[in-house]
Amino acid sequence: MKTPKILFYLILCIMSGCAQPKEKEEVVVYSYVEEPHSYARPNNAFINHLNLDISVDFDNEIIKGKATYDIVTNNSTQIILDSKHLDIESVMADGKETEFSLGANDKILGQPLTITITKDTKKIEITYKTTKDTEALQWLKPEQTADKTKPFLFTQGQAILTRTWIPIQDSPQIRLTYEANVQVPKDLMAVMSAENPKEKTENGLYHFRMKQAIPAYLIALAVGDLSYKAISERTGVYAEKSMHNKAFDEFSDMEKMVSAAESLYGDYVWEQFDVIVLPPSFPFGGMENPRLTFATPTVIAGDKSLTSLIAHELAHSWSGNLVTNSTWNDFWINEGFTVYFEMRIMEALYGKEYADMLALISRQDLDDELTNLKDTPNATKLKLNLKGKNPDDGMNSIAYDKGYLFLRTLEETVGRDQFDAFLKQYFKEHAFSTMTTEKFVTYLNTNLLEKNKISFNTDEWINQPGIPQNQAVITSEKFKNVDHILQEFIVESKFDKEVTKDWTPQEWVHFIRNFPATMTVEQMKTLDDILNLTNSSNSYIQMVWYEQALNHDYHGKNVDAKIEEFLTSVGRRWYVETIFKAFKRNNKMEDALKIYEKSRPNYHSVTVKTIDDLLGFEPEEEVIK
Ligand SMILES: [Zn+2]
Repeated sequence: MKTPKILFYLILCIMSGCAQPKEKEEVVVYSYVEEPHSYARPNNAFINHLNLDISVDFDNEIIKGKATYDIVTNNSTQIILDSKHLDIESVMADGKETEFSLGANDKILGQPLTITITKDTKKIEITYKTTKDTEALQWLKPEQTADKTKPFLFTQGQAILTRTWIPIQDSPQIRLTYEANVQVPKDLMAVMSAENPKEKTENGLYHFRMKQAIPAYLIALAVGDLSYKAISERTGVYAEKSMHNKAFDEFSDMEKMVSAAESLYGDYVWEQFDVIVLPPSFPFGGMENPRLTFATPTVIAGDKSLTSLIAHELAHSWSGNLVTNSTWNDFWINEGFTVYFEMRIMEALYGKEYADMLALISRQDLDDELTNLKDTPNATKLKLNLKGKNPDDGMNSIAYDKGYLFLRTLEETVGRDQFDAFLKQYFKEHAFSTMTTEKFVTYLNTNLLEKNKISFNTDEWINQPGIPQNQAVITSEKFKNVDHILQEFIVESKFDKEVTKDWTPQEWVHFIRNFPATMTVEQMKTLDDILNLTNSSNSYIQMVWYEQALNHDYHGKNVDAKIEEFLTSVGRRWYVETIFKAFKRNNKMEDALKIYEKSRPNYHSVTVKTIDDLLGFEPEEEVIK
């Protein structure tokens, strides 16, 4: 039987939540919105299942193999996939070799891979390999790992990097299920954003299945000398040996987090929630790959004090993975909701006082970002226009922190009970579909605001720069106390270490970040002598203290060497960027470049791109294109 239009339509409806056709014969009216960052034309033909059969070659640092797709066509004679820096060897359509062409290369988007099909084609199979220019993959030498004995590989797909390791329709609007056979060296273990092994296999061959449809940016792979330890039946940790116990202790509240999240916004539908601790060069705090969050080891502080990151990635199991931003212009739909949800999970677990500290830090991050973006006010709108730009450039703190403030203000306006009921319904009705900003606004008006006759300046929040007047005011008694202690130190040179003994890292961060511009080197030295901040083992405190050391020209306790050590061992973009920005702001570019030349080879392409741009660095031999 041919694929009838109605089937095509229904699949589209499942994927994008469009309205039912009036009659069966009606021509498909397709509801994908314009996609600025993918060549795919899903209204003509789209993929809905991937079968990946690949091997991971550490010696040559390539992945090679076959990607086979189930496709759905709408009388189309071609299907277009995204491809960047891939070596495409051959393409088959339903078992027969078929023509394909790679179009002109765009620096950001890569190349369209156009494949000839017939309107009856059901499967296409692509034989390919990655190249040294891949941006998603980071190949790590043993010395770059925690155990320092075996190599490691991980992928980072968001925003548009999956196309650099798999030819794919790389748009958040296109969801697919997948299976994979992955061959790795037999002393290593492979894990994916899928059902995962709990132990190494004897031959290094691993089979994976992801039965829930996800967008391509959530397909993820990590390969290393890993083992697994369960925390509860549905939560656990993958890590290298030397990190295992530390990670297990740090993340032991994971089951409680999942339960708290479920009681807020409905069932956790992905069955398993595991975390893999990656080597320190991982460019993000965490990445919400479904079933298996990828996390930086820098959140392991020894006292669970930075685990709001895990709450954040867990929250993405609803906002982002279940209801996905339609395009990267709607990125706040993923991140604003997730920060809001993260705060609610943290409040449920550790109380309002703790959550308010996190919220106030988010508020200050927002102020900093507004200052950074003062010359480009359009970049402070929630709804972005990233056409022609790398979507990674839109991923500043506006989507996160202004998105959060918008939702918190809404919550305070309509009341928490009402807002929670609305969000629960929102996730339920739009599960496994995508959301544009406009569609959300319509849904909000119909289901919350108009229904309850509440007027709210939604348009101003979303489509205007800056922060509207009616913003929620966030306060924290704990931070007021910290402000008082800092003030006493600055004005009266009084400081009693005893008052800090129960401080959380959030209080430390608030204390350090708010040093006045007039802070002297002598005052920096006094604090460091009492508190030994230069040698803090908490990565968050290190970041803000090193930033202040640069701001205030402090060189005590060998802090310069510590900064260099930090930048050459950690690749988390937020940390690295914050410190390099401080070098730049304080006219210490020569020092910055000297360190960057050493640290750059340890960074993932995502961090490299940001810091190259920040420092105006041009490598002699272009590796990242
Ligand atoms: Zn996030």
